[in-house]
Amino acid sequence: MAVTVDTHCPYCALQCAMTLREDDAGAVQVDARDFPTNRGGLCQKGWTSARLLDVADRLRQPLMRDAAGELVPVGWDVAMSFVASRIRALQGIHGPDTVAVFGGGGLTNEKAYLLGKLARVAIGTSRIDYNGRFCMSSAAAAGNRTFGVDRGLPFPVGDIGGADAVLLAGSNVAETMPPFVQHLAGARRRGALIVIDPRRSATAALTADGGGVHLQPLPGTDIPLLLAMLHCALADGVTDADYLARRVTGVAEACAAAGAWWPERAERVTGVPAEQIRQATRLLADAAPARGGRGAYVLTGRGAEQHVNGTDTVQAAINLALALGLPGRAGSGYGCLTGQGNGQGGREHGQKADQLPGYRSITDPAARAHVAGVWGVAPESLPSAGVPAMTLLRSIGEPGGPRALLVHGANLLVSAPDADDVRRRLGALDLLVVCDFVPSETALLADVVLPVTQWAEEEGTMTNLEGRVLRRRRLRPPPDGVRDELSVLNDLARRLGSAAAFPTDAAAAFDELRAASAGGPADYTGIRYADLDAGVAAHWPYAAGTAGTPRLFTERFAHADGKARMHVVEESPPADDVRADAPLYLITGRVLQHYQSGAQTRRVAELVSASRSPYVQIHPLTADRLGIADGDDVDVVSARAVVTAPARLSHDVRPDSVFMPFHFAGAGSVNRATNPAVDPVSGMPELKVCAVAVRPAVAR
Ligand code: SF4
Repeated sequence: MAVTVDTHCPYCALQCAMTLREDDAGAVQVDARDFPTNRGGLCQKGWTSARLLDVADRLRQPLMRDAAGELVPVGWDVAMSFVASRIRALQGIHGPDTVAVFGGGGLTNEKAYLLGKLARVAIGTSRIDYNGRFCMSSAAAAGNRTFGVDRGLPFPVGDIGGADAVLLAGSNVAETMPPFVQHLAGARRRGALIVIDPRRSATAALTADGGGVHLQPLPGTDIPLLLAMLHCALADGVTDADYLARRVTGVAEACAAAGAWWPERAERVTGVPAEQIRQATRLLADAAPARGGRGAYVLTGRGAEQHVNGTDTVQAAINLALALGLPGRAGSGYGCLTGQGNGQGGREHGQKADQLPGYRSITDPAARAHVAGVWGVAPESLPSAGVPAMTLLRSIGEPGGPRALLVHGANLLVSAPDADDVRRRLGALDLLVVCDFVPSETALLADVVLPVTQWAEEEGTMTNLEGRVLRRRRLRPPPDGVRDELSVLNDLARRLGSAAAFPTDAAAAFDELRAASAGGPADYTGIRYADLDAGVAAHWPYAAGTAGTPRLFTERFAHADGKARMHVVEESPPADDVRADAPLYLITGRVLQHYQSGAQTRRVAELVSASRSPYVQIHPLTADRLGIADGDDVDVVSARAVVTAPARLSHDVRPDSVFMPFHFAGAGSVNRATNPAVDPVSGMPELKVCAVAVRPAVAR
């Protein structure tokens, strides 16, 4: 009999609603469902997502290295007992922190929660972090320090459609989450969609024909551009003085820093014409409620965040939004467009090095006592804060560094910067264990590969980009030999001798998560599976007995004094800046057909036929100067690696820059070339910009 289930897309944070129908022959059809985020839309990734269920190389048995170093099938008992015994043996020699855990922003809330618990309670290591560190952590840091809490969008996505103007800083939603573009229609109609992107992306192209303004700065110069916009707002007297006086601190200092960035100076640094900077500022300011507009939003994405000054770049965007009186006001606001499917929930429940469930600080004695109480352990037994992802990865192979790594839902060999170095370090481990459902590049390097369920084979919850908790539902059971990750975590905890509970049922895991989150910034105690199944829109914080919080900050911000805090922002260059032997900027980003490292989407035939391989987008003038024709293989040479891919000539990229998508493995895998330098506040690496030379490919 045919089976039907309502669920959400396996990929990005928009979490578009869909219905899956499996016929008697096992064929699965995807139908879009109406939902506030996608309004009946899906992108090509979503439409083809059911192909994932039957990919040819699906992992169906645990794999372990044999004496010849080959990965060969073994039983679960053999694999799990090997993993547990190696963990304990290595810890016996090198101490508890010799084992590290690396999670992912695609894991369900239940998995993310129990992975954090496994690390802290069963393994006893402080070394846990996750790939969300590559994605959103700068916005999270800026949001926390400004507003006192970090929720990607502190308002429902649907609110954006009512605004007169939207500023998108470093976000290519037209390719990453195409159904989101519906929410920009109001701003486009009024000619007030403002896109900051060094490339004429599909999103920047939406500003054509009177839709708005594309500000195309030199890579790495978003800060002076945003400071210049704040300067213009101050000079034109369009800031919201009453709002600033009532709701914001640090205003004078932050605004003084913008004083030095008059538009003509910013033009010289960013390349954006001064008049365009003024025009964009006017469009945004005129839409603000203080000026009689219907509202305006400032939204940031990875393009603003993935820099060594990413926290300050986001801060500059927030300072501008605050100056115009937008955050915490109906129909206006600031938000971060979260990328990964559960990027929001993944950073709330314990995968992050410094956090306990409920978005609590692991260094807060009260938080430790509460969570330890839920877990039935002594507070002092919980490890202290670990280190961010890049610090963790780059400590492997160093004295005192991890000797074992458990990877859940991440493909580091494609997604991490300086990926060749990451490969060398992972190769030097005494034990690398990867849980995945396909043989990703990272899984193929592992000592042990554990095959786990995917999306439509499991129950759980995800938290979308607006902090709304959603149900993921099971369409069909997993193939024989595949286990749910909750069972894997339970099994490992048992074998490690932990007496703590590790529920294997998603609903039971969620109930425990709710208890652990009680009283924290991301309080889930009032959210129940039954209510989610009934369609309740559950935005956190959602304490028991409340109705949740679709809109944050309407009365007060989350700091003790109820006020938001502007912070002074200064310009600074990329860590790996252009120079004589590396005169071009390499920028990276996404294409419509692929998601993150491509481990999933590179296995879907329709997506691969539409986007088969990496390329180097290069301006015709630059290509001509370098003797490169369209389609020629070119080498992109950074201080870390030489990446090779065909040239694609385009006027969409600046003559001083080249662009490559980051979803691919092999010779054209761009993160082999990107810079592992990190933002000192967020720990987020500078994936978006580094210096390169480009040349016709040298045969190797
Ligand atoms: Fe929607 Fe994102 Fe899935 Fe596309 S990838 S269908 S935008 S959730």
